[in-house]
Amino acid sequence: MKYEDWYRRSIEEPEAFWAEQAQAIHWHRQPDRILDYSRPPFRSWFVGGLTNLCYNAVDRHLDERGDQLALVGWSTETDSVRELTYRELHREVNTFAAVLQAQGVGRGDRVVIYMPHTLDAAIAMLACARIGAIHSVVFGGFAAHNLAVRIDDARPRVLVTADAGIRGGKVIPFLPLVNDALERAQHPPERVVVVDRGLAGPLPLREGRDARYADLRRDHEDAQVPVAWLESNEPSYILYTSGTTGRPKGVQRDVGGYAVALALSMWSVYDIRPGQVMFSTSDIGWVVGHSYNVYGPLIAGATSILYEGLPTSPDPGIWWRIVEKYGVRTMFSSPTALRVLKKHDASFITDRDLSKFEHLFLAGEPLDEPTARWISDVLGKPVIDNYWQTETGWPVLTLLPGLDMKPVRLGSPGLPNLGYHLRVINEVTGEDAPAGEKGVLVIQPPLPPGCMTTVWGDDQRFVDSYFSHFRELLYSSLDWAIRDQDGYTFILGRTDDVINVAGHRLGTREIEESVSSHPAVAEAAVIGVHDEVKGQVPIVFATLKRIGGADPGETAEQMQKVVVEQLGGVARPARIYVVGALPKTRSGKLLRRSLQALAEHRDPGDLSTLDDPAALEEIRRALEDGP
Ligand code: ATP
Ligand code: MG
Repeated sequence: MKYEDWYRRSIEEPEAFWAEQAQAIHWHRQPDRILDYSRPPFRSWFVGGLTNLCYNAVDRHLDERGDQLALVGWSTETDSVRELTYRELHREVNTFAAVLQAQGVGRGDRVVIYMPHTLDAAIAMLACARIGAIHSVVFGGFAAHNLAVRIDDARPRVLVTADAGIRGGKVIPFLPLVNDALERAQHPPERVVVVDRGLAGPLPLREGRDARYADLRRDHEDAQVPVAWLESNEPSYILYTSGTTGRPKGVQRDVGGYAVALALSMWSVYDIRPGQVMFSTSDIGWVVGHSYNVYGPLIAGATSILYEGLPTSPDPGIWWRIVEKYGVRTMFSSPTALRVLKKHDASFITDRDLSKFEHLFLAGEPLDEPTARWISDVLGKPVIDNYWQTETGWPVLTLLPGLDMKPVRLGSPGLPNLGYHLRVINEVTGEDAPAGEKGVLVIQPPLPPGCMTTVWGDDQRFVDSYFSHFRELLYSSLDWAIRDQDGYTFILGRTDDVINVAGHRLGTREIEESVSSHPAVAEAAVIGVHDEVKGQVPIVFATLKRIGGADPGETAEQMQKVVVEQLGGVARPARIYVVGALPKTRSGKLLRRSLQALAEHRDPGDLSTLDDPAALEEIRRALEDGP
């Protein structure tokens, strides 16, 4: 099969293409119309079709693969493994769905799921999907404030939570956070269901509001909850963007389009067929977790592994032991995680039997060449960079080994995925940028199936945030890109990550790549700061690898040389700070806007999604003390 033919058809005859792809899922009633685009930029796919995500993910497989593993929950934090076959998962989901119904949850009601990365969280999601309730998963590492804001946006009837999360061996009781959040919230849920893992001791339950799931489920052990057949465009879930550039946006997703897009991408992109094993290291609190830990693999009839713990604990080999044990075929992770592993010796990977292992996909942030080279050398396999967004729900730029694997070009997440009509637009003229020239990456609407339908409760924000940057109606989340002659697209960072040095426009990413090519550097963040003479100058924050023990001062000097050699004098970093850690969002993205604000003595802005406040404090001190 040729990628080019498939791609062309998906763009030139979208309705015929998607009508065919739609047959990969179960419809209770077939759609009347494939696409309704009468109200741009809003669009509806598979209009009138009735389907259900839970039915497609679970019930549909019972006859053929009821005894096959559906989900594996591996926790190094609690030193436990939980395995569920499709039949067992079906039972668990029915029970959970019955409990939710008994709490008054019905079709269209919201349920906030604030849970650690456990199978119970996935079960709760599927239970919502089964009864047509809209889930909003809030990453279990978020604090009370983040939870309160999301609760007020979603106005849930029920909150599902756990007794505690656990990170690096430290138990974090959730109920105090939940109480705090519910006190802050204007629209708190009436009921809280607590999955008790026995980590936090006796639970401080609030009479009349909170109940233990173990108590509630007793009445519903053998429940058979009918599937709610939803119109394809009814909302399935709400999920917030990472908040890298500002206040997070509540992405609303549909049912039918999402299921169809996942079914297509599972075989064409991730090369996973029924019965095979996928391991995504993302947390279910992020879009990758929704699409490729839970719904995608299950819709495909595959086995999905959920991992709770650090990538380096008990040792950096842990993920690869899991790959060996379960015969993982495709793994999905992030550049951030790989850069953590890169600090350690590679034998933890090469010592394992990886004979069933075929593909590693990385997404979420620019994949720097040194990291890409390192991991593909270690694995002896090409590593596939994936570019997408919470908004899109599935990859925008990728290679498609399940359809037609093209060669990797380092630094590029590859080619437009099926169904995505991508263009690169000059931000001043609004014209298509010629090959090799920088522009803004846009999607020509209508957005393909799987992508967001709107911002939850705020259609205007959907239009303003994504469709109002150009004269033409085009979708953009404002990432810079260059497309080469063959369609390989390179992401240069966000449009606000550009540094203007005396009229030269430099991408933070180019300089970061250059700094990272120094063998002692583990990770680098580059920002532009105001300069009287040049307008802006780049400054660098870098962490060093643990192995080797390089001298920070000497390394900084060498980094500067490397940048000048590779990119010329204009890119010369004005200052280089070697630090212990870089500030990131909880989803692992560098918070450049906060670094920049600190460096320019401004307020660091919305820090609600900041992972480790200590990292930002260290930066503040480093800036005061000088490099
Ligand atoms: P917010 O929209 O709230 O500011 P965010 O954009 O970080 O946060 P996500 O949806 O988690 O929210 O991230 C999507 C963004 O991540 C993309 O728009 C892009 O900037 C970046 N990104 C994702 N994958 C890649 C990749 N492979 N290479 C380069 N950048 C990537
Ligand atoms: Mg974004």
